Amino acid sequence: MEYLRLRGIGASPGISIGEVLLTERVIFSSRKDGISPGQLDTEIARLEKAIERTRRQLTDIKDKVREKIGEEHSFIFDAHLLILKDSSLFASLKKIITEEKTRAEWAISQIHEQYMSKFESIADEYFRERKFDVSDVLSRVYKNLEPVEQEKTHDDKEKILVGHDLLPSEAALRLSQENVLAVALDMGGQTSHTAILARSLNIPAVVGLRNITKRVKNGDILIVDGTDGEVLINPPPAIEKEFISKRQRYENYRKELRKTAKLKSLTLDGERFYPMANIEMPEEVKPAFSLGAEGIGLYRSEFIYLRSTSLPSEEEHYHAYYRCAKEAHPAHVYIRTMDIGGEKNLPQLKIEKEPNPALGLRGIRFSLHEKALLRVQLRAILRASVLKNVRILIPMITEYEEIKEVKILFQEVKEELKSQKVKFDTHIPLGVMIEVPAAATITDVLVREVDYLSIGTNDLIQYYLAVDRSNELVSYLFKPLHPSILRILKFIIETSQAAGKEITVCGEMAADPLSALVLLGFGLRKFSMNPIFIPRIKEVLRSVEFKPIQRIVRKAMQLKSAQEIEEYIIERVLVKYPKAFLMGQIN
Ligand code: PEP
Ligand code: MG
Repeated sequence: MEYLRLRGIGASPGISIGEVLLTERVIFSSRKDGISPGQLDTEIARLEKAIERTRRQLTDIKDKVREKIGEEHSFIFDAHLLILKDSSLFASLKKIITEEKTRAEWAISQIHEQYMSKFESIADEYFRERKFDVSDVLSRVYKNLEPVEQEKTHDDKEKILVGHDLLPSEAALRLSQENVLAVALDMGGQTSHTAILARSLNIPAVVGLRNITKRVKNGDILIVDGTDGEVLINPPPAIEKEFISKRQRYENYRKELRKTAKLKSLTLDGERFYPMANIEMPEEVKPAFSLGAEGIGLYRSEFIYLRSTSLPSEEEHYHAYYRCAKEAHPAHVYIRTMDIGGEKNLPQLKIEKEPNPALGLRGIRFSLHEKALLRVQLRAILRASVLKNVRILIPMITEYEEIKEVKILFQEVKEELKSQKVKFDTHIPLGVMIEVPAAATITDVLVREVDYLSIGTNDLIQYYLAVDRSNELVSYLFKPLHPSILRILKFIIETSQAAGKEITVCGEMAADPLSALVLLGFGLRKFSMNPIFIPRIKEVLRSVEFKPIQRIVRKAMQLKSAQEIEEYIIERVLVKYPKAFLMGQIN
């Protein structure tokens, strides 16, 4: 057995060692097996049976997935059931069998080919991508033509799933089964559906391995190191031993994190702070709380569009929001209306390409342009607010009029729900994100219109410093500690506190130890971040006292540059609190 090491993208951390289970892909027959006219009825009945069997399977899978990992993942199977129901599909298959007097396998292969080339010529990327759903359904029917042969007795032994790619439906199905130790795929990136799902279910995953499916066979031994993005095929005993101890270290580290999660969120001098989580999927709520989150400070709802095959319905929105609210309860969930447009383009919305997307129709600008979509979202968020722990957050506000317009629409939606006797939290707080410099400057005006504010430092810094947040060439200029950024942040935080309104920071700055101290010094108490950073920030804030930090930050504000500010704060903090950055360094 050949030993090989492959590099991919670490999509979900952790290490697993186990046997390969290759996901089978259906190879459609290229043989045209003829049948006699007398066999036609039997062949059509065989096809009908396969379709019926597929329908039952899909319904079963749908129920199972819903029960194991949640309603939102099961919607994809509705789409598959619809494809299966399509009478023209069945008619075309029947036509081929009858006219060409062939077996159903050949008919399915032909139809599959036709559909795939038809889809290929569709200009719209979203509709083009739907070919995978059709392919998925046809593959299932194909397999079900010979179910006995196909139904191998799968043992329940834990295995490492290896595949070319996983369709969202397959990912939902496979990962909801208990016997998956890890996942290794040829395709995919950090934000692929499988990656996100694996992370939320705590299953180590490496994706983007290019050709692992060609290099392994069932039964091979694999080490999947999702932390470092490596896969080892048939490792020699010494290497396996090394990884067993690495796995142990990683598990100890996780235990440490969980211990931190249970500690109180108090500074050394007893000031209460609140670490919260930024999430993209409802499945992330529980893991976030186990890392110490005390609320979901930002739910990026645009991800609902990413995982849906068509425009998500109000029900799909509702289920995702309600699940978050229920699992976080009694802690708060800040649901941000979709921040789409700009570079976050979603094919099903057919957004026109803009010359300057970051300055274009994005966030609330897009939502006010597509009010019907915003209405659907607001209705769903309101319906999910019955437990009274949901808040609405509006992204990319630039001016007062936008808030006014949102409020009018919001009121209309509330009236509509009331008239339909639908329950919701009538006092649901409405807040806006401060991430456009113009909005930051008029914080005093805007704060009066809303219940709370949330600072999106990722965008605020990008727009304030005129530095594209994803352009490597200018990333050296993206400096959260730039004196201009500190001045505006101080102004926003102090202004909203003076108005008696709550303020949160939900950009990456909240996850950076040094920046978090500065924000604490400005009086910030709510820090929302990617949950993996919560233990680190909690450790940092727990090792300092508020008052002295406030003094250090006040002094630092008089300095000329980000570098001077950084050096000054690190030096002063370390002298006083030598343990403050310990955990940050380990990471
Ligand atoms: C931000 O801009 O800081 C923010 C939290 O929003 P996003 O990263 O989703 O743009
Ligand atoms: Mg933003």
